[in-house]
Amino acid sequence: MHCPFCRHDDSRVVDSRTTDDGFAIRRRRQCPNCSKRFSTLETASLSVIKRAGVAEPFSRDKIVSGVRKACQGRPVTDTDLAQLAQKVEETIRASGSSQVEANDIGLAILPFLRELDDVAYLRFASVYQGFASAADFEAAIKQLKMDGVTPKYANEDADGEAVIADQTTSTKGSLT
Ligand SMILES: [Zn+2]
Repeated sequence: MHCPFCRHDDSRVVDSRTTDDGFAIRRRRQCPNCSKRFSTLETASLSVIKRAGVAEPFSRDKIVSGVRKACQGRPVTDTDLAQLAQKVEETIRASGSSQVEANDIGLAILPFLRELDDVAYLRFASVYQGFASAADFEAAIKQLKMDGVTPKYANEDADGEAVIADQTTSTKGSLT
């Protein structure tokens, strides 16, 4: 690629490393003409096709903000959301496709959200699976019971009291 400083049409790679999340390679380059250094970031392209047919780059932040809305008043943490978004990205990239429909991302989120919080899962599923009535919620709840999934926050109050109790227990545990 062209040097961003002098526009020389060649550059030499001096260092190459994978980013922490493993989804990109950062290359340190040097221009043989002006000797200045610059970095390039190489990622496998993944675009999201919105309903109107418009494509935009895949964004983990958008997954986090979308799921966070469904988690209002629930004890789900930012770390939980970041991990969920990472798992969803891994799942989608593993399919090998460079384009994904926005709705398919919603559907890919569901199994991970189900393991996290049942209330948020039902809220999210009602949107992405197009629940039309209370009967759809009943069916989804029945399915949850049948599958025997125990979400991480299944037995906790919305105000997070059980979370505080858990932390107290673990503090005691670490002191002994
Ligand atoms: Zn240069």
